[in-house]
Amino acid sequence: MDFEHSDKVKGLIAQLNKFMDEHIYPAEEEHHAWATNLENLWKPWPGIEALKEKAKAEGLWNLFLPEEYGEFSAGLTNLEYAPLAEIMGRAPWSSEVFNCSAPDTGNMEVLAKFGTKEQQKEWLMPLLNGEIRSAYLMTEPQVASSDATNIETEIKADGDDYVINGRKWWISGIMDPRCKLLLMMGKTNPDAPRHQQQSTVIIPRDTPGVHIVRNQTVFGSLHSPGGEAELRLENVRIPKSNIILGEGRGFEIAQGRLGPGRIHHCMRSIGQAQRALEIMAKRVESRVAFGKKLSDQSSIRQDIARSYCEIEQARLLTLKAAHHMDKYGNKEARDIIAAIKVVAPQMAQNVTDRAIQAHGGMGVSSDTPIAYFFTLNRFLRIADGPDEVHMSQLGKLKIKEYNAL
Ligand SMILES: Cc1cc2nc3c(=O)[nH]c(=O)nc-3n(C[C@H](O)[C@H](O)[C@H](O)COP(=O)(O)OP(=O)(O)OC[C@H]3O[C@@H](n4cnc5c(N)ncnc54)[C@H](O)[C@@H]3O)c2cc1C
Repeated sequence: MDFEHSDKVKGLIAQLNKFMDEHIYPAEEEHHAWATNLENLWKPWPGIEALKEKAKAEGLWNLFLPEEYGEFSAGLTNLEYAPLAEIMGRAPWSSEVFNCSAPDTGNMEVLAKFGTKEQQKEWLMPLLNGEIRSAYLMTEPQVASSDATNIETEIKADGDDYVINGRKWWISGIMDPRCKLLLMMGKTNPDAPRHQQQSTVIIPRDTPGVHIVRNQTVFGSLHSPGGEAELRLENVRIPKSNIILGEGRGFEIAQGRLGPGRIHHCMRSIGQAQRALEIMAKRVESRVAFGKKLSDQSSIRQDIARSYCEIEQARLLTLKAAHHMDKYGNKEARDIIAAIKVVAPQMAQNVTDRAIQAHGGMGVSSDTPIAYFFTLNRFLRIADGPDEVHMSQLGKLKIKEYNAL
C-alpha cells in the first residue's frame, strides 16, 4: 500500500484548500446565522447556488463517484477522494457546494449503478447537475430499523401501479424545498425469503399522499434547510416503472448504497477531528490559568498527543478501507468498512470532547464549530447503522475467517 498522493490529487487538494480559504471559511458565520434563524426555516442559504456554480466551473464537482461509474464519474478512486472529503468535512455544509453531500451522493450511486436509462435521465442527471436534491426513506418508527429486513412499509401492486402505505422517520433532507426525489425502501412480498421481501422505488416528492407528520430535532437542532422528519405515506401511487432493479432487490440496494456512504462520513469525521485539534492547539497556547499557559499543563499536552495519535490511526484505517474498496470491491471490503464506521465517529467524538473541555464554556457554544462536530459524530454512531450492528457483523466475519485458517 502506497498512501502517497499522486500529483493529480496533490493538485486537487491545493485547489480545494484554496476554495475553502477563499469561499467557505469566510462564509461560515453567515451560513450558521442563516441556518439557525427560525425566520429562515427550510430556506436554503442564499449564497449556496453561486458557490455551487463556482465549484462546478473549477471542476470541484461530483468528486465522490469512483471510476467504475464511467461517464458519471469525475475519475477519482475512493483512495483519491479520501483526502478531499476530509477537507470538505472541516466545514460540513460545504460538501453540498461540491455536490458531494449525503443523502444525494448515495442516491446518485444507486441510480448510476442500478437505474434504467429513463430513470437516469429523469432523476440522476438533475442530481448530478445539482439542480435538485433528494432523500432516502428507510427507517420506520415501529420497527428496529438497524435490521433492514424489518422494514415493512407496504408496496402493493395495483394494475400498472404500486400503492404505498406506511410510516418513516429520521428522513434527512426532506424539508429542503429543492428535494424533488425520494428513494424509498418498502416491502413488496411478505412471503418471500427474508432478504428478498423488500424493494426500492422512486417517489417524486410532490406525489399525493406524502405527508410530513412532524419535524425531528437532533440535540435540539432542526438541521434546516434539510431537516429530519417523520412521514406518513398514505395511498401513494407510483407507476411500476419506478421500481429500481426489480422486486425483492431492496435489501441488496440498501447494503450497496450504504457502503460508500459510510466511508465518506468517516473521511469527513476525520476532517472535523483534525480541525477541532488545530483550534484546540491554538486556544491552549493563548490561554493562561493559574499563572501558566494551558499548553504547559501536562494533561492538556496529553490530550493533544492522544488526539493526534487517534486521528492518525483513523486516517490510515480510512485510507486502507478506501484502497480495499478500489482493489477488491465494496463487498470484499465490507469488514474494513465496518471497522472504520465504528472507529472514525467514535474517534471524532473523543477528540471533539477533549477540544470542548479545553475551551471551557466557549467549548459548548457556537463560537467555534467544535460543539456541532461533537453532536454530528455522536449521531453518526447511530445513523447508517449503529456501532453495535457493525461490530456484530465484523465479529461474525472475523470468526468465520479465522476458523477457516
Ligand atoms: C440524524 C439522523 C439522520 C438520519 N437520516 C436517515 C435518513 O435520511 N434515512 C433513513 O432511512 N434513516 C435515517 N436515520 C435513521 C438511522 O439510520 C437509524 O436510526 C439507525 O439505522 C438505527 O435504527 P433505529 O433507530 O430503528 O434503531 P434500532 O434498530 O431500534 O436500534 C436501537 C439500538 O439497539 C442497539 N442494537 C441494534 N442492533 C444490535 C445488535 N445486533 N447488537 C447490539 N445492539 C444492537 C444499538 O445500540 C441501536 O442503536 C437517521 C438517523 C439520525 C439520528
